[in-house]
Amino acid sequence: MKLICDHMLGSLAKWLRILGFDTLYPDMTTNDDQVLDIAKAQKRLLITRDKELLIRGKKIQLDVLGIQTTDLDKQLAQVLTRIPVDRIQVLTRCTLCNTPLISVEKKSTKTYVPPKVFESRDQFWYCSVCNKYYWMGTHYENMIEKINKLSNKNIQ
Ligand SMILES: [Zn+2]
Repeated sequence: MKLICDHMLGSLAKWLRILGFDTLYPDMTTNDDQVLDIAKAQKRLLITRDKELLIRGKKIQLDVLGIQTTDLDKQLAQVLTRIPVDRIQVLTRCTLCNTPLISVEKKSTKTYVPPKVFESRDQFWYCSVCNKYYWMGTHYENMIEKINKLSNKNIQ
């Protein structure tokens, strides 16, 4: 399932990327026409808080999900009732640019990650576009717990 969030839903888009969904987040220079074109051409679910955009999306028979709340947890819960999370895909995508992460050997990360992290973690991932390393930090468990609470079924 591929997604596109409108420019009011930046935090949600970042979370959806953490959960592994291919999520586009167009910046302010992308107008509504372009957002609709991209959603249509790439068959993406349009997630929007913009009523007008929602109506326009429905008119051209896009897959749309209208969000009313500004509360991130409620936004996530709403998306997760529509599209379930697959545990395997969590942490497979760069939160900054949406690029799929590459699994890298621990020894190659030594000079790039904090020493404490290097000592305590065994799995590392890398975004070749942002030149950024990822690992399952202390936030990871909290994040899984939060998602479990928000979605109906556990994602262990
Ligand atoms: Zn990236």
